[in-house]
Amino acid sequence: QKTHPRDTEFHQAVTEIIDDIADLYEENPDYARWNVLERLIEPDRVLRFRVCWEDDDGHVQVNRGWRVQHNHMLGAYKGGLRFDPSVSESVLKFLAFEQCFKNALTGLPMGGGKGGSDFNPKGRSEREVMRFCQAFMQELYRHIGPDMDVPAGDINVGPREIGFLYGHYVKLTNRWEGVLTGKSPNFGGSCGRVEATGYGVVYFLENMLNAHDRELEGTSVMITGSGNVALHAAEKAIQEGAKVLTLSDSGGTIEFKDGMTGDDMDYLKRLKQEEGKPLAESSSGKFHQGQKPWQVTKAAVLLPCAIQNEVDGDAVDTMLKNELVAVCEGANMPLTAEAQEKLIASNSLYGPGKAANAGGVAVSSLERSQNAIMQSWTSEEVDRQLKDIMAAIHDRCIEHVSKNKAGVYPYSRGANLYGFRRLADAMVAFGLH
Ligand code: NDP
Repeated sequence: QKTHPRDTEFHQAVTEIIDDIADLYEENPDYARWNVLERLIEPDRVLRFRVCWEDDDGHVQVNRGWRVQHNHMLGAYKGGLRFDPSVSESVLKFLAFEQCFKNALTGLPMGGGKGGSDFNPKGRSEREVMRFCQAFMQELYRHIGPDMDVPAGDINVGPREIGFLYGHYVKLTNRWEGVLTGKSPNFGGSCGRVEATGYGVVYFLENMLNAHDRELEGTSVMITGSGNVALHAAEKAIQEGAKVLTLSDSGGTIEFKDGMTGDDMDYLKRLKQEEGKPLAESSSGKFHQGQKPWQVTKAAVLLPCAIQNEVDGDAVDTMLKNELVAVCEGANMPLTAEAQEKLIASNSLYGPGKAANAGGVAVSSLERSQNAIMQSWTSEEVDRQLKDIMAAIHDRCIEHVSKNKAGVYPYSRGANLYGFRRLADAMVAFGLH
């Protein structure tokens, strides 16, 4: 609180791990001796820069850009870029901090970072988005590199924006190298990266349900969001025989009483991803303006795949009354601190984002491997590896914990313990920096 006074989201993310790791300090005196926690909380560096670009009317626009390079003990900084008016230093610091734990859980050699801008791409032409991306990279390129910091996409940064960013990096440096992930497979991207986070959430959910003698097939699922993560989580859940009842966006919730079909899926992908229209304009499903999924229906599983702090304590109360069994986070920190506490106290299954949504960054790491050896793997090969990685992440979450009296694994605590141990051990081994 003293060192980062206004960073509320960052405090929330840090507080969430502190209680869980207290016991480790008794087990390993080196952690206190080397003051690991305080060092781990402080980002290695926070880069902030001006981004100036010209809109279609010839006006000069000014935005802020950031790259938070949080910790690189386990590998080059790795984490996405978010372009959204809600982006602030606090949001990016929480995301970068969580990313360190997430990347540690994958078992792959990656440190943690995050970046972005308060630029709002909504309502901007393609040319404006391109000019913004080029202006953003004009500054960012000097701080990143294939063995140093490798950004990817996040909210409002998809394959189109990654293409513009990468094109400008290549132009500026005259180097074609694996400095960004989420590229098109046409120029060095990995097959399966676009789908990886959403599919990975469902693979994690299946592992979690199976570890508690439950099945996904036939289970009802509510999903929030209708962006990259939400749509692919819905797609995979449908493929696995679940009944997907909702998606949502910033305008409201779309409900499918009998479950979404493959045709609904194709239609919504076109509507949201190709045409960039709101769900309110959908001609399939029933749209509820300004409502959240739990206000219009009930389901055994919630996959929150939109934005941070979307699910509050009241929402959890409502869902628990409606026979909620599991929450698995596609988004980063979608539950408020109160919501998380209530959910854990209720003994529902809870897959925290730092574990459940790690599929995207894991496939980003596979993209780097393919770039390094100048090869491209098939979608099937990448999906096979993604499934194995999500199963391994699930097992790491329960490596340092046992089932509680209600027979439920505390995944959130397990993820924090595993991630912290890896990071802290590396920090002790590296000595004081
Ligand atoms: P997208 O930009 O593709 O989609 C974001 C979705 O969230 C949209 O449906 C958007 O609605 C909705 N949304 C945004 N703000 C709000 C709000 N205030 N209330 C309700 N809905 C809102 O982003 P992604 O799908 O890539 O990312 C979603 C989440 O998943 C983020 O938390 C991200 O950090 C996390 N994540 C993403 C990864 C990835 O690989 N992409 C990897 C790991 C985590 P609208 O269309 O109206 O704007």
